Amino acid sequence: MKEPRTLSCEEALKDMYTFLDHELGEAERRDLEEHLRICRSCFSRVEFEKRLRERLADTGQSEASGDLQNRIRSLIGRF
Ligand SMILES: [Zn+2]
Repeated sequence: MKEPRTLSCEEALKDMYTFLDHELGEAERRDLEEHLRICRSCFSRVEFEKRLRERLADTGQSEASGDLQNRIRSLIGRF
């Protein structure tokens, strides 16, 4: 059995946005999902970002989204 590649949190977070845009390749997606299974902190970030995107899509607040995302990213950075 092939050992899954272990991502660092930094790599996982970098892939996260591509993943959420559904533009991540099959192998990379598997690596990321594997990391999310073992890493609680990255898992919550992905969930958070996913919900945020759904909410922005629902309300269609495209002009506020850049500012909001910046604010939320600086908030996340403090964890
Ligand atoms: Zn992680």
